[in-house]
Amino acid sequence: MEERGLKIFAPNGEPRKSDEVFYNPEMLENRDISLIAAKTFFQKVEIEQPNIADPLSGTGIRGLRYSKLGNVQFNDANPNAVESISKGLEANELKGEVFNEDANVFMSDRPNYFHFIDVDPYGPFTDFLDSTARAANYQSLVGLTATDNSAPTGSYPTVCQRRYGSKPLKNGFMHETALRIYIKEAFRNFARYDKCFEPKICFQHRHYARIIGRVTESKRRTNRNLDNIGHLSYCKNCGWRKLERIEKCGHCDSQTTIAGPLWTGKLADSRFTEKMLENFPEKWEASRKIVELVDSEAEILTPFYDLHELCSYHGLQVPKRDKVIQALERKGYPVSRTHFGPRGIRTDASLEDILNIMEE
Ligand SMILES: [Zn+2]
Repeated sequence: MEERGLKIFAPNGEPRKSDEVFYNPEMLENRDISLIAAKTFFQKVEIEQPNIADPLSGTGIRGLRYSKLGNVQFNDANPNAVESISKGLEANELKGEVFNEDANVFMSDRPNYFHFIDVDPYGPFTDFLDSTARAANYQSLVGLTATDNSAPTGSYPTVCQRRYGSKPLKNGFMHETALRIYIKEAFRNFARYDKCFEPKICFQHRHYARIIGRVTESKRRTNRNLDNIGHLSYCKNCGWRKLERIEKCGHCDSQTTIAGPLWTGKLADSRFTEKMLENFPEKWEASRKIVELVDSEAEILTPFYDLHELCSYHGLQVPKRDKVIQALERKGYPVSRTHFGPRGIRTDASLEDILNIMEE
């Protein structure tokens, strides 16, 4: 097997079911984007020989890809995985240290040590948040993958409450609500260690979500960001939404449904995503496209509108998305497409103005 010119080896023997040992080609974009995010971060903070952790290595593909950026420590609880990582290092003529520990033990033993940690579990990342927050340096980047999207997108609200302590919302922008719940959970966990987790690029793709944030030691910054933990209100009657806790719909006065607590701030830092785009190889088209879209919508906070959903609420014919975008631009509103899907637009325009434009 190969990815971006690197040879990878599947572990011998029967892998245990709990281990993510097999190469997953569906995560290619995730790995591309994470690599470029790490590269961009190290340029910005000027760390010359950063310590990098791949605590749930599996085949080792993530760590192998990062190994040109710094000193990578690979870790996997499965001895067969450890063997295949070593094989991968040798075959690709790369350097790295390989460990055979439980991921939480591995990270807890290395407090404040890593400048980049990539947590890529099979399922929720919540099991690893504590040890990740310990192991992250006061000047570091942390990436967390979540593949348990069905709970925070509202299919299993009780599981979401139990796992994330938040109420989800099942509607056209449920994947954005889920992303905001993930960020909130990461932020809160890091805050317990007086560390501030600030989103640099967060996105949803295929069946997973990925949040990548910068970690700093700053009580002041953490306190300031506490204002970004809140709720979101949604009207099931007309599709109105706002990133605040409001009982009555601002458009039709119906009772709203409230989701949260969740992250109400930006999902990406556009200064960072712009720098990432400068570092992005042209050939990695699909991955680059995601970053371009996330960058274009980074400054607009209102959860995106699914035009099909909005039209069904109001008995309207679905207009061409680009026409709606152009009309809103002419009116002077910030508006963009969204990486969440081809039927979505992101804008801070009022629902009334959006509906007027769609009726025209
Ligand atoms: Zn309403």
